[in-house]
Amino acid sequence: MIRLSELSLPLDHPEDALRDAIVQRLNLVDENLLDFFVFKRSYDARKKNTEITFVYIIHLHTSDDDAVLARFEDDVHVKAAPDIDYHPVAQAPADLMERPIVIGFGPCGLFAALTLAQMGFKPIVLERGRNVRQRTKDTWGLWRNHKLNTESNVQYGEGGAGLFSDGKLYSQVKDPKFYGRKVMHEFVRAGAPSEILYVSKPHIGTFRLTGVVAKMREEIIELGGEIRFESKVTDLMLDDHQQVTGVGLADGTELHSRHVVLALGHSARDTFRMLHKKDVFIEPKPFAIGFRIEHPQSLIDRARLGKYAGHPELGAADYKLIHHAKNGRAVYSFCMCPGGTVVAATSEEGRVVTNGMSQYSRNERNANSGIVVGINPEQDYPEGVLAGVELQERLEEVAYKLGGSDYKAPAQLVGDFIKGQASTQLGEVEPSYKPGIQLCDLADALPSFIIEAVREALPAFGKKIRGFDRDDAILTGIETRTSSPIRITRDNQTLQSLNTQGLYPAGEGAGYAGGILSAGIDGIKVAEAVALDILKQQGA
Ligand code: FAD
Repeated sequence: MIRLSELSLPLDHPEDALRDAIVQRLNLVDENLLDFFVFKRSYDARKKNTEITFVYIIHLHTSDDDAVLARFEDDVHVKAAPDIDYHPVAQAPADLMERPIVIGFGPCGLFAALTLAQMGFKPIVLERGRNVRQRTKDTWGLWRNHKLNTESNVQYGEGGAGLFSDGKLYSQVKDPKFYGRKVMHEFVRAGAPSEILYVSKPHIGTFRLTGVVAKMREEIIELGGEIRFESKVTDLMLDDHQQVTGVGLADGTELHSRHVVLALGHSARDTFRMLHKKDVFIEPKPFAIGFRIEHPQSLIDRARLGKYAGHPELGAADYKLIHHAKNGRAVYSFCMCPGGTVVAATSEEGRVVTNGMSQYSRNERNANSGIVVGINPEQDYPEGVLAGVELQERLEEVAYKLGGSDYKAPAQLVGDFIKGQASTQLGEVEPSYKPGIQLCDLADALPSFIIEAVREALPAFGKKIRGFDRDDAILTGIETRTSSPIRITRDNQTLQSLNTQGLYPAGEGAGYAGGILSAGIDGIKVAEAVALDILKQQGA
């Protein structure tokens, strides 16, 4: 198979133009192109006011691939295609003596469990939250009625933190084994649109994601796996050599296994504390805090796509911004949601935290993103392993009080924030946050070095995207759960905890992923490590 990259075609090209372009580029006779598929499609918007083009990577078969590759030997855009198929690393023996446990059913736990189930290892999944249907009701309880369910919300429940999200499915992680491709394939098999396999910035959106996750759960069960909702793990059982022997649940149940995947997400603070008490090796790690910003989506579309703004092939535009502030801090946009809404994302009483989500259509009025500042343990929370968690908790409590102590979020207009005065009235931009916002002075919400850095960054961002710093854009606070404030460090080879045998820290909460796709990839990696270790221990 051959990989042909950097093949450009106009945005509005007819479908068969792609085949013609391949034939022409490789100087083939048409019938010698046996088949092809699009591996990736991105667009080049550098000339947004003259011509935006699609840029393709194509995988193809010809009647004589070797001859074609020899002819284009010096052409960096014509190479042998890598093997992108997934090949399971193990098959469970018929006399499987031990079922692995997976804690957490977010994207990481989901892919760990699915991969284990597909290899025949019949995992038991323990998830503290409820299934998608019940969880959706509980989550809307906060957004509509100010009522939080601390075990079933935006962070906890089937699908994990990625369920009520923009469903962006791209990541910067290195993926030499194309595990990301397996993640996408499984999503498509479970009902996601097939375009996620090839568009450069795929997304599913909340509504579709809920159906996809429920379908994948069914497959795990059909393959002999088990998924227990409302099953919070509150204890880790260890032998005298710090080897895991099982877990204890909040209702007193004990389950035994010497292989436990820990796919907790970044919000399971109570579980982090339990693990710390059990002497599992944990270290603090950098994360970021800040606010959500909202603008009209049309402003972003115009700035990014010029005369192509609103083109149906391009959809709602996104952005990525970074500014290095004079006080040494990096300010950057995070988890940008085109055509989406800002959501209440707390899992704890008396705390407020924001995030963003969208539907597949991305056709809400506003664009939003986190505008966050990187912080690190050495400089900002040196007090101990869990000091980053404590900092998040303190700030989220302040935000709750500033918002009026009923889960409304504190908010301010960008113009007022830059001037340093409390906001009293909205402009044209309508905030989307539910259950509502409380206008105030956000300078009281975060440490002064963060306020300073964001104040400096917004006008700088306004130079890159005209109108980004318009007076009536809205800042809503606060964004604290950008990633995990800890790493549950694991050995690079075995993927087991540095000091606790049989424990496989994985995904975002353990500090090994940052997003749906990378969490799914990490779940697959860890499933393989668990499967191989079980086979080794059974001498199979
Ligand atoms: P999680 O998804 O957090 O899952 C962990 C699971 O473990 C949870 O379901 C939790 O209930 C369970 N759990 C925790 N403790 C216990 C316990 N003691 N016992 C049993 N179960 C437990 N990422 C993207 O890539 N694209 C996006 O568009 C995007 N948008 C987002 C929007 C929102 C509103 C949020 C909150 C996040 C978004 N993210 C997005 C981030 C993404 O959701 C996370 O990176 C991803 O879900 C991490 O996956 P995970 O499986 O590691 O952890």
